Amino acid sequence: MTPLRIILLGPPGAGKGTHAKILSERYELAHISTGDILRSQIQEGTPLGKKAKSFIDSGKLVPDELVVEMMRERLEDRDVKKGFILDGFPRTVEQAKALECMLVDKQMPVNLVLEFQTSEKVIVDRLSGRRVCSNCGANFHIRNIPPKREGICDVCGKALIQRKDDDPETVRKRLKVYQDQTAPLIEFYKQRKVLRVVNGDLEIEPLQQELKQVLG
Ligand code: AMP
Repeated sequence: MTPLRIILLGPPGAGKGTHAKILSERYELAHISTGDILRSQIQEGTPLGKKAKSFIDSGKLVPDELVVEMMRERLEDRDVKKGFILDGFPRTVEQAKALECMLVDKQMPVNLVLEFQTSEKVIVDRLSGRRVCSNCGANFHIRNIPPKREGICDVCGKALIQRKDDDPETVRKRLKVYQDQTAPLIEFYKQRKVLRVVNGDLEIEPLQQELKQVLG
């Protein structure tokens, strides 16, 4: 059977990270989140992390050449062969074209792009309530995915914090960046006949049901 190679497309707060994690476990896919990789590079103080930090903190996109190079390296890893789910990449048409070239070379084309259509009201609510682990990066939400102990990560027991780029002003900027730079990918993938739309406003369980149907 052809491995699943999926891209999740949608604005910040659409639930891409949450659903990527569940789907990657269910279908045994490599979960590749460029945001997670960049945040861990920042934490480790690598040259890439140092270059990326100011872009991320201000809600801008990290330059294409840096992210594409990072992705090129990640796609060399063995686990990618069993199928993958890309969460937060590509985010520009340039990145999508670069990805297409890399995957053609590897004979591993993407077979499904899921667009999470999500209303602004839901996005703002999810991002303002989001809490992440300062140590392992696990995601929570004060109402939708509450940790067992308030302010403490269920996975590793360290403190939960709010992401710097989840403050209301930066969220507004990130939404504009999405509209201007990432939304054109909807047309890009429509033309390639791999785009399916799902309802990103749904809570986790009902959206998982919808995703199960789409994935057949
Ligand atoms: P995320 O965790 O996906 O919301 O990403 C957080 C931030 O990381 C974004 O606002 C960007 O600054 C940066 N980032 C993540 N993925 C990309 C990408 N594919 N291209 C450029 N910047 C990215």
